[in-house]
Amino acid sequence: MSDKDKERKPGKEDGPPSPEEMQETLKDLFSKIGGKGVSFNPFVQEVDPVIPDEGDSDEVVVDALASLDDFNLVPREVKAHLDRFVIRQDDAKKALSIAVCDHYNHAKNVRAMEDAGEEDSLEYQKQNVIVVGPTGVGKTYLVKHIAEMIGVPFVKADATKFSETGYVGGDVDDLVRELVRKADGNVELAEYGIIYIDEVDKLAGKSGGNFGKDVSGRGVQTTLLKLMEETEVALSNPMDMKGQMMSMMALERGGKPQKETINTRHILFIVSGAFSGLEKIVSKRVLSGQIGFQVDERDEVEDGELFKRLETQDFIEYGFEAEFIGRLPVRVVCEKLDRNDFVSIMKFSEGSILRQYEREFEAYGIHAHFDGSAIERVAELAEREDTGARALMTVLAEMLREFKFELPGTSVSELKVDAELIDNKEAVLAKYREEGLRVDIEKVRDEVGIYAREFNTKHGVTMEFTEGAVMVLAELSSLQGRSVLQICRSKFKDYQFGLKLIQGNSGRDCFEITREAIEDADKFLSDMVVCSYKVSEKDADAGEDADEACNK
Ligand code: ADP
Repeated sequence: MSDKDKERKPGKEDGPPSPEEMQETLKDLFSKIGGKGVSFNPFVQEVDPVIPDEGDSDEVVVDALASLDDFNLVPREVKAHLDRFVIRQDDAKKALSIAVCDHYNHAKNVRAMEDAGEEDSLEYQKQNVIVVGPTGVGKTYLVKHIAEMIGVPFVKADATKFSETGYVGGDVDDLVRELVRKADGNVELAEYGIIYIDEVDKLAGKSGGNFGKDVSGRGVQTTLLKLMEETEVALSNPMDMKGQMMSMMALERGGKPQKETINTRHILFIVSGAFSGLEKIVSKRVLSGQIGFQVDERDEVEDGELFKRLETQDFIEYGFEAEFIGRLPVRVVCEKLDRNDFVSIMKFSEGSILRQYEREFEAYGIHAHFDGSAIERVAELAEREDTGARALMTVLAEMLREFKFELPGTSVSELKVDAELIDNKEAVLAKYREEGLRVDIEKVRDEVGIYAREFNTKHGVTMEFTEGAVMVLAELSSLQGRSVLQICRSKFKDYQFGLKLIQGNSGRDCFEITREAIEDADKFLSDMVVCSYKVSEKDADAGEDADEACNK
C-alpha cells in the first residue's frame, strides 16, 4: 500500500474521492489556472464581461449593489442608452426598457424592506421577457447593453445545448452558478442578474405543427420554469467542479462563508428565438377570426406585422407548455434588418464594426477611412448573407483580410476603403503593395532626425547623417519592412561608447554618419576610434586641428 493510499480515510479506497480530497485537487488546479475567467460550462456563451476585471473586485460588487439600491432610471433613459448602440427595434427597446425598470424598481423595494423582514408583503409578477426575432438583429446586443447599464451580471446560453444528453455539467442550474461567477462570487449580486437563453424555440414540442413531440425539450421547459419562478440552486456540489470553485473563490477572497444556495426569485430571464413557422399560426388564428371580412383585409393581415398580434395561445400551439409561456409575460418582437439598417448600423451605432476596423488598422499606424460607397456595398453584400448584422462582420473580414495581412509593416499609412477596393480587390491591393515598397524619403529624413535628437539627448553627442546615409536607410527600410527608427536603434545600439571615447580623445562632439556607417556600423566606428588615437598623438606632437581627418 502506498503512502498516499494509507492517508486515505477508511472506507474510501474504492469509492469516489471524498469532498475534502476533491477540494484539495481543485485548489491545486484553481491556483494553476488563475481563478477568474475560467468557465467549465459547455453551453454558456461568453459575452463581453459586464463587471470590469480591473480594480478591486470587492469594490466593484459593492458599487453594483449600491447602484441597485439607488436604482432610479426611467424607461425613457434606458431606451435612450440603447438607441446609442442598437439601430431600429424601437418596440423591443421600449418593452425591454419598461420591463427592466419595473424589475429593478421592484428589486430596490425588496432590498429596502428586507431589513424589516417585510419584503414578502410585496406582490409582484416577474417581468421575464420573450423576444421573437431572426438571427443577428440585435437581441443579444440589447440585453448585453441593458445589463451593462444597470451593472448586473449577465449570462447568455443556448437552449439547444440543454436538450443534448451525455455531456458533463449540462444542467440548467449551471446557468445560475455561472451568474455567481460573473458576479465575482457574490451571491447577493448574482441574485439580481440577468439570464438570457437564445434558441428557446427549439424547446417547443412541435414547430409550426409539423414536428412530433420532443420529450427532452418539454423536460427542459419544466426545469426552466422552476428557475424562472423561484427555486434555490445549490452553489456547491461535491461532484460539481463549478460549485467547488465558487466556494473556493469566496474563501480565497477572504470573505465570510457564503450562502450555500442562490435564490432565483429576482433573476430576470430573457429568452429568445427565431420561431420560424410561428407567423403561420398567428396568421391562421387572425384570419379565422375574420371570417366574413373582405379579401383585401386578409391580405393586409398577411403582409402586416403579424408578430405584433402574438398571443399566448400561439406559443402553446407552437409547442410550448402553457405554464412556461405564462412565466414570460413580456413579449417583444425584433424586426428583420435590411440593407438601409446595415448602413445605419455602420454609420451611427456607437459599437459600429467600422470603428473596430479603424482601431485595428490604427494599431499598425494605418489610418483607414471607409467612404459612403464602401458602406453601401458592404450593406448590399451583407443583405445577401441573410444572417442579419452578423453578416457585416463576415463581409468586412473577407474584404479586408489581405489588406490587414499585407499593409502592416510597410510604409502605407492611409487606406481608403471604397467601392473600388471592394469590386477590384486584387488591383487595389497591388497598388498598395507597390506604394508600400516606395519609401517616402521625407518620412525617412524625419525618422533619422528623431533618432539623432534622441541620441543627442541621451548621450550628449550629435550624429549628422549624410544624404548618402539617408538613401541607404530608405532602401533598407523598404527591403526589410522595418521603420528607419528601428534600423538606426539596432545598428547604432553601442555607438555611445565609441563616440564618447572619441570625444574624450579629441574633444569632438559632432560626428558625420555616412553610407559606410550604415553598411558596416562596427567597422565605421572602430576606424573612427583608431583614428582618434592617432589624431590625439599627432595633435599633441603638432598641435594641429586634426580631428576632422577622422570623420572621413
Ligand atoms: P442576435 O439577434 O442573434 O442575438 P446579436 O445581437 O448577437 O444578434 O447581433 C450580432 C452583432 O450584430 C452585434 O454584436 C452588433 O454588433 C450587431 N447588431 C445586430 N443588430 C444590431 C442593431 N439592431 N443595431 C446595431 N448593431 C446590431
